[in-house]
Amino acid sequence: MNVEIITIGDELITGHTVDTNAAFIGKNLTAIGLNVRYRSSVGDSVEAMEEAFHLALKRAQLIIATGGLGPTDDDLTKRAIVKVFKRNLVFHEDILEDLKRRYRDRGIEMPAINQNQALLPQGARFFPNRIGSAVGIGIEEKGKIFIGLPGVPIEMRQILIDEVIPYLKALKLAGSTQVIVIRTTGIVESKLAEIIAPGLKLETGVRLAYLPSYSGVDLRIIASAENDTGARERAQNLARYLEKVCGPHVYGRDNDRLETVVGDLLRDNDKTLCVAESCTGGQLGQLVTSVSGSSAYFVGGLVAYANEIKIELLGVPSEILQQHGAVSEECAIAMARGARGSFGTDFALSITGTAGPEGGTDDKPVGTTYIGLASPHANYARRFRFGKDREMNRSRATYAALEMLRREILDIK
Ligand code: AMP
Ligand code: MG
Repeated sequence: MNVEIITIGDELITGHTVDTNAAFIGKNLTAIGLNVRYRSSVGDSVEAMEEAFHLALKRAQLIIATGGLGPTDDDLTKRAIVKVFKRNLVFHEDILEDLKRRYRDRGIEMPAINQNQALLPQGARFFPNRIGSAVGIGIEEKGKIFIGLPGVPIEMRQILIDEVIPYLKALKLAGSTQVIVIRTTGIVESKLAEIIAPGLKLETGVRLAYLPSYSGVDLRIIASAENDTGARERAQNLARYLEKVCGPHVYGRDNDRLETVVGDLLRDNDKTLCVAESCTGGQLGQLVTSVSGSSAYFVGGLVAYANEIKIELLGVPSEILQQHGAVSEECAIAMARGARGSFGTDFALSITGTAGPEGGTDDKPVGTTYIGLASPHANYARRFRFGKDREMNRSRATYAALEMLRREILDIK
């Protein structure tokens, strides 16, 4: 079954509001095995909506639209539905009573304009809205299903999850789909493809996507089959293959995050961590402490931006700074050692680099970053060459540091 998602609102196409509804709907429909084929957005214009609805009715069997169901004059979706489906609006006493009661419960009198929210296209079903006033609308016609939901994200989500998904499941339109995400880091997308492609045999109904970000490359498996067991088995088969060939580059699955994986490793091994950061300005400490329960292993950190701070508070020898500069292997190692000594932890990570856009030199162009690691057994640093963008460099350095620690703890060479 092909699905089209249509989101409605001027603010979406002008870019003033990010279209989060389409993403949420796409994800949740995919999860129940529906094939989201198209997605479109139109402004608050009856004409544009009519066009979009007609086109969607041609190429999809299920259409889910959001937005424009409110009581005000800029909410025009019902008018477009009336024109496209040639159905009159019918008044629903029960919807109005429910609305009035909810206003009463809040101690407010219902504004008269809300009355039009009790008007639905003839023959439509409605999906109750437990949060706001606009109910969802469902129309079944000539083998097609059209569903209109309000645009307010929290209301749309509640109706979709509590009402629409069970309704679609009951229609048994869908087979089953299983999604598994294999999370990798420290290796670029094309290199991963080189490792994966040679032995890859995709079963029918199985798709694999490479999704790169600052923190690494996710390998997303979507497997469809007639039932849950079949879909799960297909997804698992590919997941096991990917985990085997990608080996140590894989740090987790699905909702695992590098910071939680590393946190678990520290806690399980009863080890502690501190950080000394220059160019990331605290981002590594922020990421580590974004995990609830991180106080079990994270002791603290120092943002050592100026050379004097590196010397005075981390004990970096001034000769190192003079001879090699702050962005150097020697400085990164000294920062990590110094931090480990002062904070009294098992591990210390340090980051020093040229985040850019200014400040690069020939032998240390923008993006050059050294990440240091101090442990009871060894002190070392690795050089990275990230890109030209400041924020990207800081993010990539932060994740690369965590990955160095993961590899150190797991003894991955
Ligand atoms: P509406 O139902 O069109 O009156 O929209 C109500 C509110 O929800 C407005 O603040 C919109 O900006 C917001 N909204 C509508 N559609 C979306 C969407 N697709 N993604 C995120 N927010 C939206
Ligand atoms: Mg709107």
